[in-house]
Amino acid sequence: MDKFGLPARYQGQQESVWEEYIQLAADYDPLDLGQGFPDFSPPEYIISALDQVIKDKDILLHQYTRGCGHPRLISILSKLYSHLIGRSIDPEKEILVSTGAYGALYSTMMGHIDQGDEVIIIEPFFDCYEPMVLTAGGIPRFVPLRYNNNNSSILKSSDWTLDPEELEKAFNSKTKAIIINTPNNPLGKVFTENELQMIANLCKKWNVICISDEVYEWLVYEPQKHIRIASLPGMWERTITVGSAGKTFSITGWKIGWAYGPANLIHNLHIVHQNSIYTCSTPLQEAIAIGFEKEFSCLGQDNCYFTSLPRQLEQKKNYMADFLTKMGMKPIIPDGGYFMIADWSSLESEIDLSAENDKYKDYCFTKWLTKNVGIQGIPPSAFYSESHKPLGEKLVRFCFIKEDEKLKKAAEILENWKQRNN
Ligand code: PMP
Ligand code: GLN
Repeated sequence: MDKFGLPARYQGQQESVWEEYIQLAADYDPLDLGQGFPDFSPPEYIISALDQVIKDKDILLHQYTRGCGHPRLISILSKLYSHLIGRSIDPEKEILVSTGAYGALYSTMMGHIDQGDEVIIIEPFFDCYEPMVLTAGGIPRFVPLRYNNNNSSILKSSDWTLDPEELEKAFNSKTKAIIINTPNNPLGKVFTENELQMIANLCKKWNVICISDEVYEWLVYEPQKHIRIASLPGMWERTITVGSAGKTFSITGWKIGWAYGPANLIHNLHIVHQNSIYTCSTPLQEAIAIGFEKEFSCLGQDNCYFTSLPRQLEQKKNYMADFLTKMGMKPIIPDGGYFMIADWSSLESEIDLSAENDKYKDYCFTKWLTKNVGIQGIPPSAFYSESHKPLGEKLVRFCFIKEDEKLKKAAEILENWKQRNN
């Protein structure tokens, strides 16, 4: 018996793509369009809110706060989502605040998935879902989005669609939950009302919980609209929705996230949270609450950060699509989020990947790109289950929530490489 080894519930889990690619960036110092985070300042008011909180006369703001969410934060989250979902959300019973969306997802999986439960995961998926389901004892059932662009010259994230029959076949009496992510990381796909309705109908038919990761809920490009599946008829009762302050206010390092849903489902998350995380940073939650209070007062207006950020990103998105095209890649234009997927396969004949010996070509390509061109992207096969990884092999993911200067530099680096190789 190996007393020093990993417990059985973690065995087989590998180093994540983040561990590997953050180290790769540290070793080669490329221009980093890999892991998703903004390299520019968050809104000024959120920084001054934190500054204000730190200096506040109320010294208890430096001490533990209520375990499942700081009162001021759950209060404004309940106001905001009650308004968005169209029903009254109980701040104490129907919300959990945790360590980022990761913490909320973890409490959701541990609080609901039991040994042998089947969990449907739509691919590509944010990579932590699969290990979390496995750790909880669940059995993942993967349903990939299929790409079909009907020969249009513009490739777009909405070209990825669910095959209704494939989805339906994945449901059975053992299905406990389905995990969806809209807007999707890495594709930038925003699920349409029809697609969400199809998922909702199957959830109701098979009495399944819907775990909806909506961390990019505010990053949607016109004319698309983000639809919360919890707001569809009969779905509130069975949906846990996950959000992130990191994505909402461009503060990924603060690591505060939440889940909301009906009291009976959120209760199970509270049970997990109370003896794992117990409570999150008080001053950060207080400052985020101040940020939400401000945004709630101007929701939908031009001066609302949730309106202005996607507008600002629209230009960066177009700029990136342009320089990737010039370089010979085929970008797939996202409807949401801050990542762009591009097909790099037409470059394959021009480059020599033989020094890289990874199993999947997108890993070889992204490593080659970091080491030889000086740009870092992320290999999309990391977001697929083992048997579907080939679906991601000819793709690469780049992050565009970066300063214009940095994007310009990326364009120059790629342009120079292209010229040297023509
Ligand atoms: N879900 C998705 C789809 C994400 O892209 C991220 C980004 N890290 C997370 C969850 C985790 O968010 P957080 O940083 O708030 O834990
Ligand atoms: N969600 C971000 C991304 O996909 C950051 C990665 C992470 O949280 N591990 O790049």
